[in-house]
Amino acid sequence: MIPGPVDIPPRVLRAMSKPMIGHRSKEFGKILEECREILSEILNTSNDVLIISGSGTSGMEAAIGNLIGKDDKIAVIENGKFGERFAEISEIYGNLVHIKYEWGEPIELGDVEEALRKGVKAIAMVHNETSVGLLNPAKEVGELAKEYGALFILDVVTTIGGDETKIDEWGVDIAIGGSQKCLGAPPGLSIVSVSDEAWKMMRERRPYYLDLVAYKRSAEKRETPYTPAIPLFFALREALEIIKEEGIEKRIKRHRKQAKAIREAMVELNLELFPKINEVTKYSNTVTAIKMPEGVEDGELRGRIASMGYKIAGGQEKLRGRIFRISNMGNFSSKEILGVILALEVALKELGVIENIGKGVERAHEVLNKS
Ligand SMILES: *Cc1c(COP(=O)(O)O)cnc(C)c1O
Repeated sequence: MIPGPVDIPPRVLRAMSKPMIGHRSKEFGKILEECREILSEILNTSNDVLIISGSGTSGMEAAIGNLIGKDDKIAVIENGKFGERFAEISEIYGNLVHIKYEWGEPIELGDVEEALRKGVKAIAMVHNETSVGLLNPAKEVGELAKEYGALFILDVVTTIGGDETKIDEWGVDIAIGGSQKCLGAPPGLSIVSVSDEAWKMMRERRPYYLDLVAYKRSAEKRETPYTPAIPLFFALREALEIIKEEGIEKRIKRHRKQAKAIREAMVELNLELFPKINEVTKYSNTVTAIKMPEGVEDGELRGRIASMGYKIAGGQEKLRGRIFRISNMGNFSSKEILGVILALEVALKELGVIENIGKGVERAHEVLNKS
């Protein structure tokens, strides 16, 4: 239950162990086309959907590298590790207008507007900030971007397949997804959707391997420009079939309920959620970040939980040792949600943080069973 790579269902694993096919074959073309179609549905977009062989970060770099040059300004919102990554990439390609918060702090729309007034070509934000468990305001920032004539780049790496992604409604010009999070596929593929407006604003000098225009031209022929990671496409196709079988609406509801169950269980156990929310910035529905209880050492806590069969995540970089994170991305059942909370309670009792086992599980069970 770490926030990616997530557990892969056996069906998806099996799909990968097939003989290789040529990437200019009809067979591959069909898989590519079907993946693009289902992903368009999940993203609620009529924009072009492209699939890059590379992890989520390749999609982030493609978005910025194709749009932003030395003479362009780009605003980046940072309230966690992945926002920082957007800022770092932006500094390499263009001029960064940094909207920077402490990690885990909510976004204030006034700050966003102030940055947009500086006349930026684009604004980039991470929708679900995995490092701190926050869901940032896509709709509101999308509206502001439109008002100020900036392109809107949105990282939906840990929302695609787990929470709402209304790409067209929110006015997202480039959305970036990843395979190894809520989609329940192996790592190594990045999904990038591009609007007509963004196509018009592409630079003349674009990255070579990550040239989105090349990806679009190839996609029209049901191909990719270079040899794709074919086994990962087999796996993604199967993972998307699982999503279709569950139904995307149901899947989003399940993720929301599971995250709520985890949050309420934590409160019941007197643990404190790490991020701060406001009217527009909400708790994540796919990963929950919790403050490390006083006097508890990170390795000790997670080690005990791991020995009971549940792997959870710590904090990244400056948050290491200060928080732990429970992800519900992918295909978890209620049993696993209740199981990880029980394991946490057992560990906390052994460490002398709580006296009795069961309060968190009880609360989570109530939430999970509400319709
Ligand atoms: C995982 C993740 C990424 C991509 O990271 P990769 O390691 O390159 O796949 C990007 N953004 C967010 C919010 C993520 O959680």
